[in-house]
Amino acid sequence: MVGQGGERIMQHYAMGIDFGSTTAKVVILDEDGEVAGSAISQKGAVSDEGVRIAQAEALRQAGIVQSAVGRVVSTGYGRRMLDIADRTITEITCHARGAVALVPEARVVIDIGGQDSKVIAIDANGLMARFAMNDRCAAGTGKFLEVLARAVNIELERMGGIALEATETVSITSMCATFAETEVISLLAEGVTTPVVLAGVHQSIANRTVGLVARVGKRDPVVMTGGVAQNVAAVHYLQKALETRLIIPEGAQLAGALGAALFALDDLRMDEAERKKTLQGDRDIDDLVAPQSCAPACAAKQVKPIVFRAAPAQPTETPHGRA
Ligand code: ADP
Repeated sequence: MVGQGGERIMQHYAMGIDFGSTTAKVVILDEDGEVAGSAISQKGAVSDEGVRIAQAEALRQAGIVQSAVGRVVSTGYGRRMLDIADRTITEITCHARGAVALVPEARVVIDIGGQDSKVIAIDANGLMARFAMNDRCAAGTGKFLEVLARAVNIELERMGGIALEATETVSITSMCATFAETEVISLLAEGVTTPVVLAGVHQSIANRTVGLVARVGKRDPVVMTGGVAQNVAAVHYLQKALETRLIIPEGAQLAGALGAALFALDDLRMDEAERKKTLQGDRDIDDLVAPQSCAPACAAKQVKPIVFRAAPAQPTETPHGRA
């Protein structure tokens, strides 16, 4: 990019945006692939404002303005709605890349978000081998938990802890969130306690996810990403059902945005290599040029995990009140 005075503006940063069904996530990487800024905005279903808020917060953390970002890749439910993105990449591809960047030894990634749940098998080179996905109905997703939290009048953030107070569970048989809501209300009316009902709700999520894991083949280590990884009961019942300990990295909800940012960084490096090639004319500069299929190669070579040093800031103040 060239500034008004003709100077070249250095665009050393890469941005990944995960425009999710429930939250917007942004990760900014510097040219060394270190996380410079990240943010999650809870603005509700596919919200432009949510993206703007998360973007502004991530830029603030990185101490830069948008013009310092050379490449933007978007992913997630609303990825095609973002003018700012240079290209879009599917959620599965970005989640696999981001999860492996966080936990390089991962062999299975379970991502449970607001609107879908996905299980991705990772091969020994850190590349996606197979995946299974549920995006047809809310059962087994974060939306299911949101609906049932409302039904029992408990905040989403507290429902996992309350479920863990139960010493037994009850079977929730309804596959659909709407029918499950009726079932939960009936159970409460019959005198089943709230912790027991919630234990049943989380067990139901776990059972559905185990079905997806079976489709790709269970291999350890298993990494969990997505917003539902913050729900202690979802994690507990999933661990029990899979008979394995789940690895939940710092920044688990940001895995998709991180994957997108890593693809943006590949593009940025490719741009830079092309620029150097042009500057150096016909000289032999093969060693400066990134491989054509850089993305899979980079993912495969990754041995050191990318670290989110602290939980990403969740901006709460918006121009129109609280997010
Ligand atoms: P998407 O990418 O589809 O927007 P996310 O990966 O951000 O979805 O996950 C959203 C889901 O995460 C919500 O539906 C909710 O169930 C769960 N979630 C988000 N924050 C929390 C929290 N603090 N505690 C428990 N669950 C949470």
